[in-house]
Amino acid sequence: MQLTKLEIKGFKSFGDKITINFNEGVTAIVGPNGCGKSNVVDAIRWVLGEQSTRMLRSEKMENIIFNGTKNRKAANLAEVSLTFDNNKNVLPTAFTTVTVTRKLFRNGDSEYRLNDVKCRLKDITDLFLDTGVGADSYSIIELRMIDEIINNKENSRRNLFEEASGISKYKVRKKQTLNKLRDTELDLSRVDDLMFEIT
Ligand code: ATP
Repeated sequence: MQLTKLEIKGFKSFGDKITINFNEGVTAIVGPNGCGKSNVVDAIRWVLGEQSTRMLRSEKMENIIFNGTKNRKAANLAEVSLTFDNNKNVLPTAFTTVTVTRKLFRNGDSEYRLNDVKCRLKDITDLFLDTGVGADSYSIIELRMIDEIINNKENSRRNLFEEASGISKYKVRKKQTLNKLRDTELDLSRVDDLMFEIT
């Protein structure tokens, strides 16, 4: 699976639409301090479903929308699309090209899309689970994360190996199933109460 294209519009410092094509080999982004290099990485994190404003280096989610400059109006919408070549079927979908899109409007409305079809955040996180790509995974490694892995903070080393070995999705499913079981047990005890009241 290869990242092939990133399109950003109205996200952080990118008032105009920019398109970055990732060809084979290594792509490096260089530029002076403050020109927006880290904002490109933030855009990738964000489109993959990042919910933590701290991870996006922003106080509020609304602050990721282009704020305008002296000569330019602020944007009302931030939109990022990330395209993958899925010829090797790493992503569990029949599509050979997969584009994930996330939008955030200034009024707080937001939208996720998979190949231009509206979807839920869960559809995106499920699609990327155990692929190494995803907001929480190891495809984006920052300096802070290297410290965490070395110090094994919050079991981060184990989490990294679990994601790489493909067992994270089973852990997530186990958690979801246990939650369902707990809800069912609560429902059953409610039924018991009702039966007791009736008889
Ligand atoms: P460095 O090399 O110092 O790490 P960088 O190239 O990684 O810098 P970024 O941190 O990506 O730079 O970008 C910082 C710039 O993004 C700042 O100039 C900041 O004003 C701008 N910026 C952040 N959020 C917004 C926003 N919502 N609207 C407009 N500009 C923004």
